[in-house]
Parts: sequence; C-alpha cells; structure tokens
Amino acid sequence: MSDYPLPSNEETRLADLQAHRILDTLPEQAYDDITRLAAQICDTPIALVSFVDDNRQWFKSRIGVDFSETSREVAFCAHAIVDQESLFVVPDATIDTRFAANPMVTADPKIRFYAGAPLVTESGHAVGTLCVMDRKPRLLTTDQRRALEALARQVVSQLSLRQALFHIHEQQRQLQEAMQQRDTVVAAVAHELRTPLTAVVGFIDIVRDSDAGLSPDDRREYLSTAARQAGELSHIIDDLLVAARLEQNTLKVTRVPVNLQAQIAQVLEGVEAPSDKTIRSATAPVRAWGDPSRVRQIVRNLITNALRYGGSEITVSTGHDTEVATVAVQDNGEPIPVGEVDSIFEPYRVSAERKPAAASMGLGLAISRQLAQLMGGDITYDRDESQSTFRLALPIHD
Ligand code: ADP
Repeated sequence: MSDYPLPSNEETRLADLQAHRILDTLPEQAYDDITRLAAQICDTPIALVSFVDDNRQWFKSRIGVDFSETSREVAFCAHAIVDQESLFVVPDATIDTRFAANPMVTADPKIRFYAGAPLVTESGHAVGTLCVMDRKPRLLTTDQRRALEALARQVVSQLSLRQALFHIHEQQRQLQEAMQQRDTVVAAVAHELRTPLTAVVGFIDIVRDSDAGLSPDDRREYLSTAARQAGELSHIIDDLLVAARLEQNTLKVTRVPVNLQAQIAQVLEGVEAPSDKTIRSATAPVRAWGDPSRVRQIVRNLITNALRYGGSEITVSTGHDTEVATVAVQDNGEPIPVGEVDSIFEPYRVSAERKPAAASMGLGLAISRQLAQLMGGDITYDRDESQSTFRLALPIHD
C-alpha cells in the first residue's frame, strides 16, 4: 500500500510527464538558475526541481542535497502535487503526522520545513514541484510564496519550450526522411522507366536500320516486343499517377454494377504468359459494385504479380457469398513470409527476401488495396499448403 496520496488524474499525469521526456536528462543551466533563485529568495539551504514519477521523485535540478532521486513514499512532493492549485507548506515536519516518521525527517537531510509549488503543465497535470526546504521549522512570507509560484511557472515555460523544440526536431527529421524517400523513389522510377524504354528504342532502331534485311516475321516480332514494352511503360506510369492521386485524395472511383467475369476476360486478353506458365480461368458471371477500369487494374496487377513472383500454375476465379463478390488469383509459388504479408501492401515496399522483378516499384499491391478500399472492398493474402491466394473482395450486386 502506498503511503502517499494519488492525484485523481494519475494515469494521464504520468503519461504527460513521460511525453515531456525530461526524466533522467542531464542538468541544464536554465533549471539550475531557477533553483538557485528559489533558494536565495526563500532563504533556504535546499531547493529542488522535482518530477514525481510512478514510484520515485527525480530531481532535474538540486541545491543542498547530493542524491538525484528518492522513492515516492518519502517524497514531500508526492503530497504537493495533489492540490495543484496551491502551494503545499509543511511548517514543521516533526509535528505533522504525515511526515514525523519520514526518514528524510528522522535522518539526513533532517527536513523540518517544506514548501512546494506544483509544476502544472499546459495540459493541466501537476508533474512535479519547485520546492524549497529547511532544516529548521519556519514559514514563507507572502512575497516569498508569490516568488516561488512565479518561478514554478518559469520551470513550466522551460518544459513547454523543450517540448516545442522536440516537436520541431521531430518534424525536421520527418521532413528529411520524406525528402530522402522522395529521392529514392525518383531514382527507382527513373530506373524502372529506363529499362522498358531502352528496349523500345533498341527494337525500333533495329527495325529502322535494317532496311530490307529483316524478314516480315522478324520485323513483326521486334515491333510487337517494342509495343509490349511500351505497354509496360504505360502501366508503370498509370500506377505512378494513381499512387500520386491516391496520396492527394483526388482519385474518384465510380460505383456501378460490374460483371467480374467480363473484366477478368478483358484483362486476360492483354496478358501473355511465358511458355513455362499457365493461366487457368475458372470464372462465373458474378456481379459486384465497383469501377470497371479500377477492377481491371487490380486484377491485372494481381495476375502480373503471379506471373512475376508466383509459381507455374496460376488460376483466376470468381466467387461470392451473400455480401461480397470476389476475384481470387492463386499460384503455386513460394509463400510470402508471414512477417512480410502486411508490408507488401505498403507503397514502395518489395519483399526483403526476393529480388524484385524488373519494373518493380512495390506500388502494385498498395495501389490495388487502396483502390479496392475506395470501392468499399479490400484485398487479402492467404496461404494454404501449396497455393498463395490474393483475393479481391467487393460489395456484391445481386
Ligand atoms: P512490385 O510488383 O512492383 O514489386 P507489388 O506491390 O505488386 O510491387 O508487390 C510487392 C511485393 O510482393 C513483390 O515485390 C513481391 O515480393 C511480393 N509478391 C506480390 N505478389 C506475389 C505473389 N503472387 N507471390 C509471391 N510474392 C508476391
């Protein structure tokens, strides 16, 4: 059982004290100046700036004592913070039942007199005191009391200043981090655009420079490779634009009845699986509420991912229950490590374990999930013994 009274707002008071990040910091001139002034004005051998923590009081500044903390049980300040409106004065501790047996009274430093002004923060919590003590019984004059209270307010100003500075530093750090991230993104974007662009320019150069030396089949193949790469470029740019508009909250999605089977078919028409991979479609005419072009963008992303990162067998299917209509893209590739499942849905995040594919900026899943959520749905990842499943769920239209 504690032998000190607890303030009624103890929990938020402690949180406020922690938020000031003052505990266990080094001495500072500003606080030492204030304790010196308090001791001088009140004419006491001891003056402290004391913060009352959960189980202890800790001194940010001290004059006349050579320890930097005590347990809360023996702290006069633990009593002084309870009534945060007024100065707490103990004229003679030896005749005060609360303190007569206190080891600070019965042994060194043999306190007799105590006066503490609560340090009340901007959010209204008494986090500690500015206090003065003497080894003989006494009182303060009205002027001394007023001065102690004024100096306590100065301590609080220092605390507020410290917090403001901390916030400025934190904002600077975040700004710097954002600028660094922007540079990284710009570099990644430039790199990802250059890869397909180099291929487009290369193939067009070959066709242009070879005059009649290319067979019509070769010419067609070069041009269609260039067209495919240009299509890749255009998808990357689409993703970037959508990501920027999502970030600025300016992206609008429509909500109309969408036949998921028809959207999947449209996407599959434009997808070319390499010879070692198969895509199986197992769809039914399920209808959802959504934006058809965004639904296609999501399905295209999921299928492209399965082709890039997944196994050799990919299945696209539809499903539904009474509330949601779903598109599942499954593949029999390696599972995504459990610890990475959340982060792959964050923008510009790719797997730490796998080398990202070419044209990988880690935007696909982040965009897809945000688009799905804008349409009132979501995307989830599931793994059973052999299959990874990315599932787009949208409100059903029946
Ligand atoms: P990107 O494809 O540009 O890397 P995404 O956001 O689409 O970005 O995907 C993020 C990461 O998620 C990928 O880099 C990959 O590591 C992982 N991933 C996505 N789909 C699959 C999948 N079907 N199988 C395994 N890993 C996947």
